[in-house]
Amino acid sequence: MNRIPVTSPASVAVFRRILTHGPLARVDISRDTGLSAAAVTKAVTPLLAAGFVIESPDPRATSTVGRPVSPLAVAPDRAHVIGIKVTADRTYGVRTDLGATVRARADEENAGSSVGAVLAAVVRVVDRLRAGAEDAVSGIGVALSGDVDRAGGQVRESALLGWQGVPFAQLVQEATGIPALLDNDVRALTTTELLFGAGRDAESFAVVTIGTGTGCGLYLNGRVVQGAFGVAGEIGHLPFAPTHLRCRCGRHGCVEAAASTAAMLSLVREGRAQPDLSIGDVFALAHAGDPVARGVFAQAGRVIGTALAAVVNLTGPELVVFAGENVTEYGLYEEHLRAAFAEYTFGAAGDCPIVLRPHTFEDWALGAAACVIEDIASGVAAGG
Ligand SMILES: [Zn+2]
Repeated sequence: MNRIPVTSPASVAVFRRILTHGPLARVDISRDTGLSAAAVTKAVTPLLAAGFVIESPDPRATSTVGRPVSPLAVAPDRAHVIGIKVTADRTYGVRTDLGATVRARADEENAGSSVGAVLAAVVRVVDRLRAGAEDAVSGIGVALSGDVDRAGGQVRESALLGWQGVPFAQLVQEATGIPALLDNDVRALTTTELLFGAGRDAESFAVVTIGTGTGCGLYLNGRVVQGAFGVAGEIGHLPFAPTHLRCRCGRHGCVEAAASTAAMLSLVREGRAQPDLSIGDVFALAHAGDPVARGVFAQAGRVIGTALAAVVNLTGPELVVFAGENVTEYGLYEEHLRAAFAEYTFGAAGDCPIVLRPHTFEDWALGAAACVIEDIASGVAAGG
């Protein structure tokens, strides 16, 4: 990966501050990071020389002490990155610049969920996205649901795709000739929020997703929690649903058994004896007041709210961000979710604010791109 040069102990902190909060005057970087003006200058000079940072030409900008300044910003075209989200049937991709602005988007159908079929779809998406920017693309991030070992570039297990022990980062890198990394999709989304979203100014936060699966990404003590065994924040398999409901993982009573899109769809189909209903029909029925559909959303909301209370009680985040495909229908869950959350949070934990994030599959791909940007920003020893 084409990482920033690390020439001083402050390089990474200074670049990260410019990345997440720029354009920023040097004096403001110094104030925000607690570094001396000299340390900031020492860190910034090589970043300017390597082209990762530019002096932003905004003549109106002034520092907090009132002098006109040339604030520093990330050079957006110094590196482009590609983010990929793999779902069971489609592969979504974006190419962004170094500031995470989307420059191109593409998606392709997977010819199946085998490793070969998904790899072929990823290569088609990458080929479309790199067109016209061949030299600029520094890395590819791939996000998918499941137990993903980011450090080893391996999918340990993905129930959604039926994969086990797949070294997918290496396969993507070999097939495209571009350095690639792999991460769990919810952790990738958490990285976007951390660098560019609601988590920019939070000491800690949780991202909870509702949709195909129910996931939770955690940012605690200055890092996105990876989990010693690659698994952390798997709220989808906490046992808070009624025990007669069977989860796709094979166990009973998991949160996802009541709250995943597939689970809710099958519960409404069964309850109304209408096996042909689509999830769109289910949303429409619930909005129209159908008691079966509303009951299924009430149950899902209650189960998610209980799981969320468990997360907040255990980890004490400053805020919770709600994302995922079904966030657009949050109103159908909200009353029951909030009631369960209020019931099970302990003491002041119940004051933890919940922020909604509108969401598409493209946002998952953007999360994968953010992981690559984070990797670039993590730096490499100059000359190394
Ligand atoms: Zn389960």
